[in-house]
Amino acid sequence: MTDDTLEKSRLTLLGLGAMGTALARAWLAAGHPLTVWNRTPGRAEPLAAQGAEVAATAAEAVAASDLVVLCLLNDASTGEVLAGADLVGRDLVNLTTGTPAQGRARARWAQERGARFLDGGIMAVPPMIGVPESGAYILYSGSRALFDTRHDMLAVPAGAVYVGEDPGFAALYDVALLSAMTGMFAGVSHAFALLRKEKDVSPKEFAPLLTGWLTAMAPYAYGVADHLESGDYTRGVVSNLAMMTEGNATLLRTAEEQGVSAELLTPFMDLMERRLADGYGDEGTTGVIDLLTRYRTTEPST
Ligand code: NDP
Repeated sequence: MTDDTLEKSRLTLLGLGAMGTALARAWLAAGHPLTVWNRTPGRAEPLAAQGAEVAATAAEAVAASDLVVLCLLNDASTGEVLAGADLVGRDLVNLTTGTPAQGRARARWAQERGARFLDGGIMAVPPMIGVPESGAYILYSGSRALFDTRHDMLAVPAGAVYVGEDPGFAALYDVALLSAMTGMFAGVSHAFALLRKEKDVSPKEFAPLLTGWLTAMAPYAYGVADHLESGDYTRGVVSNLAMMTEGNATLLRTAEEQGVSAELLTPFMDLMERRLADGYGDEGTTGVIDLLTRYRTTEPST
């Protein structure tokens, strides 16, 4: 322990899976005294060797620090782990992935037990944690006072991005970003499927073209945002829905020629065609969002 370590605040981390371990290493490397606990005690041993205090129970770990970070499998495990702990006066930061409704319910639950609460969504994989140039960041929502007080510690493992007092927003942003990523993975899978039977096409030579194209198209998101905020879905449109829907036939026919299932493409294409049939051919694809959001007539139960 160095003099520098003595000046830094202690925190507790519950959950030492792949992500929890990466977080723990980042705080230890930054010189923060760290108390850890994990359901399977063996996972704490390498961290003990690096200077972490290992608590025998979750309740003991919670008692050790004012700031308590959780990185567990899911919301149910969070409830189980904290069941016997005294949370009065604690700052609870839950980096366990959950839904917006779970984040809001957990915030109420924490408040009832006398704790301030922040929910978090980690936009990184474990090797990106503690590597400033990796672009990793963590979304936070809930108590602004907690975020401001603890910002220096929260910014150690990854960038800290506060998205609002509503404790559901971190999960909402997280899932929105992951959902967009899922669509990208679907597109990449289809693209490689189209090439697969061609012996003369190298996936490794195609990959930079694909990456460059996706990067060039990514600012599409700004156009959609402008449409949604202005209410004018034709503003700045350079490729309109009528033209793009026409192009769908070429995409589908090429899939057929290459012996590839179009099942990843057709749900989005069906929505484009419905919007076109409703008379919006001069828009971009933003109107698809209207079709999607019309499905929801009631809030899901928590
Ligand atoms: P792991 O599966 O590696 O670890 C899960 C952790 O949860 C372990 O510490 C496990 O304990 C603990 N756990 C599970 N169930 C219980 C329970 N009922 N009671 C007590 N402890 C329990 O997952 P990760 O560390 O990768 O992920 C942790 C969180 O981080 C998840 O919410 C995940 O979505 C999120 N995350 C992970 C990313 C990643 O790439 N790994 C990326 C972004 C977010 P034990 O060791 O005893 O099994």
